[in-house]
Amino acid sequence: MRFGRMFLAGDAGHIVPPTGAKGLNLAATDVKYLANGIIEFYQDQSEAGINSYSEKCLKRIWKGERFSWWFTQLMHRFPDDGAIVAKFQEAELDYLIHSEAGSRTIAENYVGLPLDFGH
Ligand SMILES: Cc1cc2nc3c(=O)[nH]c(=O)nc-3n(C[C@H](O)[C@H](O)[C@H](O)COP(=O)(O)OP(=O)(O)OC[C@H]3O[C@@H](n4cnc5c(N)ncnc54)[C@H](O)[C@@H]3O)c2cc1C
Repeated sequence: MRFGRMFLAGDAGHIVPPTGAKGLNLAATDVKYLANGIIEFYQDQSEAGINSYSEKCLKRIWKGERFSWWFTQLMHRFPDDGAIVAKFQEAELDYLIHSEAGSRTIAENYVGLPLDFGH
């Protein structure tokens, strides 16, 4: 997310498969962290915010990447997948729909993890 004095945000720094609807959400969080860091730099002459920018963002980004990857595997049939993968998908969907814990975990990730979760 950073190369010297150049900072990347949004799709320029990371892309996700569309299944999780995470791209714009992650971009907005990157910009929030970067803006805070730049304000801190000019107002307080502190580099703490810009120095921790990459690490803070990547913790959240990898959670978004993981969710998008997992949801894509769950919702799509790929040519190389055998019949057993389809059975795994059906079983997992059944679990997510009928388990309170399963529904909660998908809702938490789909709506968006709270900002203080892994930042
Ligand atoms: C069909 C679709 C559906 C999506 N649905 C969702 C969703 O439901 N939820 C979600 O969170 N995300 C969604 N996304 C992802 C989301 O749109 C992107 O992650 C987000 O727009 C990234 O923002 P960005 O500012 O990083 O890049 P962009 O929005 O791509 O902005 C980059 C800008 O830079 C401009 N630009 C490019 N090159 C130059 C240049 N050389 N000079 C000047 N300007 C330049 C471009 O014209 C563009 O305006 C979706 C994406 C697509 C394609």
